[in-house]
Amino acid sequence: MKGKEMSIVVELNDVHKSFGSNAVLKGVSFSVPKGQVVAIIGKSGSGKSTALRCIDRLEIIDKGHIEVCGHRVSDPGIELRRLRMDVGIVFQSYNLFPHLTVEQNVMLAPRAVKKKSKDEARELSHRTLSQVGLLDKAQAYPEQLSGGQQQRVAIARSLAMEPKVMLFDEVTSALDPQLTGEVLRVIEQLASEGMTMVLVTHEMEFAARVADTIIFMHEGKVWETGPGSMLKNPQTPELKEFMAYGL
Ligand code: ADP
Ligand code: MG
Repeated sequence: MKGKEMSIVVELNDVHKSFGSNAVLKGVSFSVPKGQVVAIIGKSGSGKSTALRCIDRLEIIDKGHIEVCGHRVSDPGIELRRLRMDVGIVFQSYNLFPHLTVEQNVMLAPRAVKKKSKDEARELSHRTLSQVGLLDKAQAYPEQLSGGQQQRVAIARSLAMEPKVMLFDEVTSALDPQLTGEVLRVIEQLASEGMTMVLVTHEMEFAARVADTIIFMHEGKVWETGPGSMLKNPQTPELKEFMAYGL
């Protein structure tokens, strides 16, 4: 570590965001050091997805500051292309192109955005497909794969852009329970390889095990934060209730 400035990959400082009269983020602050995993949990509607989307500037904040990999996301003059090269984001829906093979899906962004040669892009796709355990499916089409395999391809597609930080928004929520595990294992493997990540998840045991820091959001605020063990010993009535009843 070369000091704090160098080691913080994502920083939100007093972030506010409203949709019309609906104040969704009410002063959210947290930071993600390089190589660490932060998991965001909380009830539906508490602002988790909005917070994640603000990091990649898919939402523009009303007040506060966000800095990601040295990009000042909250500045109007931000170069979105460069920000998005450093940030990978994976959603619940994987949206692979059905008419392209798995390999072609993964090669697309490195070719189009990073101007990689075909050979370089193919090499990247093979490297990231093997990271998610699907190199043997490179020539398959998405419809030939299970939901869990398609989501792993979506993760490989994101990794092929060689991001400095990965954001995951409930990536297992659309999957049958038996397919959830294979996707979580890929994320856990990435964590052990030192990838910096922010995960929004409903998988509490997974969050407790894999995350360095858990953030419990409630009504647009960071309500409670701590290591994975905080889930066994919630301090606020709101987290206690969430742990007991969930959603
Ligand atoms: P979570 O991910 O914790 O379920 P969200 O961040 O998706 O919560 O949503 C928080 C609140 O913001 C909800 O009330 C939702 O309806 C509202 N919201 C989110 N995105 C939009 C949008 N694009 N336009 C209007 N309201 C939105
Ligand atoms: Mg959400």
